[in-house]
Amino acid sequence: MAHFTVWDTGIGISESDMRKMFQPFVQLDSGLARAYEGTGLGLALVRRLTEMHCGCVSLESEMGKGSRFTVSLPWQESGLSGTSVATVEPVETITLRIDTGYPAPLILLAEDNESNIKSVSDYLQIKGYRVTVARNGAEAIERAKEERPDVVLMDIQMPGMDGLTATRYLRADADFKTVPIIALTALAMTGDKEECLAAGANEYLSKPVSLKNLAKFIEKQLCELRVE
Ligand code: MN
Repeated sequence: MAHFTVWDTGIGISESDMRKMFQPFVQLDSGLARAYEGTGLGLALVRRLTEMHCGCVSLESEMGKGSRFTVSLPWQESGLSGTSVATVEPVETITLRIDTGYPAPLILLAEDNESNIKSVSDYLQIKGYRVTVARNGAEAIERAKEERPDVVLMDIQMPGMDGLTATRYLRADADFKTVPIIALTALAMTGDKEECLAAGANEYLSKPVSLKNLAKFIEKQLCELRVE
């Protein structure tokens, strides 16, 4: 057996109370002015979970001195030896990029608003992506040709050349026919989405964009590329 013991030097529990306290929703002091909060569910849950694992809970206590709770679980030697412990697959691949030895995907962020540039690029870099920034459509095309991004985030309203024009331009170039482009627009008007998609964007997100959502869209586009 493996034993886990938690103890305190608190008020202690009387023998008659010990029997009650593993019942769900039972609080030994159930008055409204009671000094100790709680739902009275904790110990009942501990007991049930422990029993589901074929273990047991025991309690020793002395009034005024404290209590000692012990969860005892059957100990099973793992069949795996030494270093060959199974590696656990990450549940949410979106929040964690595994170091594969390949360079991290490069995201081209075409955006003219400095605070958006800061928040989006900081966030994506924390997620493990590389980020390159362009501040208008013409610069976006230039950066794309020079740096070959894996995904383009294209703001629509930008000074000089706007995002729709830059998207159409990139799509007309054989080198950028399949690079995922995610349009970001503050315009949130009907017809907006269609216009972005018609220009060649794969996805459309209206601002304010949730960074978490944006990361999901990027991950989705990268996955689709890998599948193709
Ligand atoms: Mn803008």
